[in-house]
Amino acid sequence: MDREVTTHYVKKVITRRYVVALAIIAFLSTLAFLMLHLVLKDTQSIAYVVNISGKQRMLSQHIALDVQKVYNCSRERDFEGVKVIKKRLERLSDEMLHANEMLSSGKLSPTEEIKLTYEIQNLYFTPTGVAQRVENYVKAAKELLHIEESMEMEASVRFFNTESNALLQDLNKIVEQYQKEGEADLRKIQRVENIIYFVTLIALLLEVIFIFQPMARKLIELTKDKEIILGDLQHQVEMRTLHLERANEQLSKLASHDPLTGLLNRLGLEADMSELARHYREHKAPFAVILFDVDWFKSVNDTYGHDMGDFVLCELAMLLKEHFRHEDKIYRAGGEEFLALLSRVSVEESLLIAQKIRQVVEAHLFQKEGIAIHMTISAGVYHTDVNSGVKNYKNIYKLTDMALYRAKEEGRNRVVLAQEAIKTS
Ligand code: GH3
Ligand code: MG
Ligand code: MG
Repeated sequence: MDREVTTHYVKKVITRRYVVALAIIAFLSTLAFLMLHLVLKDTQSIAYVVNISGKQRMLSQHIALDVQKVYNCSRERDFEGVKVIKKRLERLSDEMLHANEMLSSGKLSPTEEIKLTYEIQNLYFTPTGVAQRVENYVKAAKELLHIEESMEMEASVRFFNTESNALLQDLNKIVEQYQKEGEADLRKIQRVENIIYFVTLIALLLEVIFIFQPMARKLIELTKDKEIILGDLQHQVEMRTLHLERANEQLSKLASHDPLTGLLNRLGLEADMSELARHYREHKAPFAVILFDVDWFKSVNDTYGHDMGDFVLCELAMLLKEHFRHEDKIYRAGGEEFLALLSRVSVEESLLIAQKIRQVVEAHLFQKEGIAIHMTISAGVYHTDVNSGVKNYKNIYKLTDMALYRAKEEGRNRVVLAQEAIKTS
C-alpha cells in the first residue's frame, strides 16, 4: 500500500469507528434523558396531586367548622356573622368541588392529565367512593346556605359532625395512596438510572472490544507494514551507497593509475613526494627518489611495433613491482619513464636497489610472439642525505632527472646519484 492510500484508509477507518462509537453513546444518553424526563414529569404531577388532595382534607375540616359557626351565629341571631360565614362557606364549597372534579378525572389542567391508578379509581369511584361523598358533602354545605332558621340547621350540623371525620379518613387514604405511588415512581427512576448506567458501561466495554481494539490492531499492522517498507528502502539506500562507494573507488583508481601498466600515474606523485619531504623536515626521516628511463626504447617501437613496445613497458612494470619493497610507491612518470619513492632508506640502500633493478632488467628476456629482446634501463637517484638543501617537488624531480640525463650521457645502463653524480655502474 503506498503512503497516500494508507493515510486515506487510516483516516476513513478511524473516522467511521469513532462515529459509530459516539453515535451509540449519543443514542444511550438521549434515551436516558427521555426516560428520566418522562418519569420526572409524572413525579411532578403526582406531587401536585398530593398537594391538592392534602388541601381537600383541610377544606373538609374548614367547611365542617363553618357549618357549626353558621349554626351558632344563627342561634345567637347574629345575622351579619351568618352572612359572612355563609359567603366563606360558599367559596370553600366551590373550591372543594372544583378540586374533587380535578382529582377524580385526572385532568389537572387543559394540557396536563394524569392516569389514575386502579387503587385511586377504587377509592374515588365505588358507589360509596370519595368522589361521590365529596359531592354530597359540598351539596349539603350549599343547601345550608339557603336555610335561615337554626332549628332547620340541626340535621345538617349533625350530618357534618359525623361525615367530616369519615371523609377526613378517606381523604387521608387518598393522600397516602398518592404518596405511595410517588415513592414507587421514585424507585422506578432509580431502577431506570441503574439500568442506563449499566447499559452505558456495557456499551463502552463492547466498543473497546469490537471497535477500538480492532482499530488499534489494524494501526499496529499498518505501522509494521510501513516499517518493512522503510527497512526495504533503507536496505536499498545502503546497497546503492555501497555501489556508489565502489564506483568512486574505481573512479579514483582509474584516475590515479596508469591503464597500461597498472602502476600509479603522476596524478598523486607531487602530493606523495611533498608528504615525504614534510616528514623529512619534521622528523628527519630520509627518503630516496629513483627515476628510470628505458634505453633506446624508440627503436623497439620502430623495429617491432607499438604493441611490442607496450609489452616491454608492462613487463618492466611487473619487474619493478616484484623487486621494490611493499611499502615503496612506483609510478609511471611518463612514456617509458618510471619513478619510485622509497621512504626511510639510506643512500647505500637506495643505490643498491636501483642497481639491483637495473641488473634484473638487463638480465630479463622480453619475449612475445616469437620476438625476444634484451633491454636496459638508466636511473637517476636522489637521496635526502646528499641533497638536504633541495626540498620541494619541482627541484627534487629536476635534480633526479639531471642525474638520469647524466646516466644517459655517460653511456646508459647505469645508475647516477644526483648532485654528487656518483657513478656506480
Ligand atoms: P633514450 O635511450 O635516449 O631514452 O632513447 P629512447 O628512444 O628511449 O628515447 P626517446 O625519447 O627518443 O623515445 C621514447 C619513445 O617512447 C618515443 C615514444 O614513441 C615511445 N613511447 C612513449 N610512450 C609509449 C607507449 O605508451 N607505448 C609505446 N609503445 N611507446 C611509447
Ligand atoms: Mg624518455
Ligand atoms: Mg628512453
